[in-house]
Amino acid sequence: MTYICAQNISKEFANTKALNNVSVSIAEGEIFGLLGPNGAGKTTFIRILNQIFTADSGSITINSQSLAAADVHRMGYLPEERGLYKKMKVAEQIYYFAALKGMSRHNAQHELNLWTERLQIQNWEHKKVEELSKGMQQKIQFIVSVIHKPKILVLDEPFSGFDPVNAQRLKEEILRLKAEGMTIILSTHNMNSVEELCNSIALIHKSEKILEGNLAHIKQSFAKNQYRIRFSGYVDTLMLSLNTSYKIIEQHKEDEQSEFVLELLDNSSANDVIRHCTQFGAIVSFSQVIPDMHSIFIDLVSREQTNK
Ligand code: ADP
Repeated sequence: MTYICAQNISKEFANTKALNNVSVSIAEGEIFGLLGPNGAGKTTFIRILNQIFTADSGSITINSQSLAAADVHRMGYLPEERGLYKKMKVAEQIYYFAALKGMSRHNAQHELNLWTERLQIQNWEHKKVEELSKGMQQKIQFIVSVIHKPKILVLDEPFSGFDPVNAQRLKEEILRLKAEGMTIILSTHNMNSVEELCNSIALIHKSEKILEGNLAHIKQSFAKNQYRIRFSGYVDTLMLSLNTSYKIIEQHKEDEQSEFVLELLDNSSANDVIRHCTQFGAIVSFSQVIPDMHSIFIDLVSREQTNK
């Protein structure tokens, strides 16, 4: 069921159309990926959701109620351009932001201790932000956005500046927050993180939404009729036996086994392929080729570019 509903959002700056009639629907407790190349309009959308900008037209509701300042106050927000005070000590800074969100110092202290442990931040207490590594600063900024346990969390490129180990740690924490019921909007270029985290996505390109839906459904809908087969047997004879209904997309031969991808060009089914292959040997594994989000993104964005 829709929790956050943006309808027909448009926003123009001077001569630039940043968003053109964009609608998205986000379910409670999901991780929603906001995707798109640079300049697509993602940050503008997030800023409208955060009431930093007002839309020229369109509306946003949360639980069917118009978005209100109190909703925004409760949200957690990790902006892409990080906003920590460099000269201020880490703990003081976190207590300051937590107080702005209405937390007592005692509560903030308790939560901060949990978070520094979860994200493995050591020796931070008496340091100023500028004395921390970039990755550490990122973690502190993340803590600022979640310390008050928001119901809605907006993360703009949360993985930038992280090494793979820390990016993985952050991914696990994001999944934990989701499991606790938080609704998370994730704006990113990092398609691996989209694959690992998002339930559904919207792809924005040149101010317009060009794709939206459940991630698994989208991937399935972009799948061609291709199958990856690991095979043991008379592979050369098998290949020669294939008629024009099959196209060999790739083929790797090893000593004992071969792996190949076949595209089915007419109405033949996976069962037909299996029946055919087993005449020449044994199928070791068989799976449909499902495209990853990275190739869907590149495919759609370049297709739109040539159309415009
Ligand atoms: P993204 O976050 O997807 O990279 P943005 O929402 O930042 O995209 O930008 C969308 C378009 O709106 C871009 O062409 C950008 O230059 C323009 N834009 C964004 N913010 C402003 C602003 N404050 N003033 C003028 N133009 C802006």
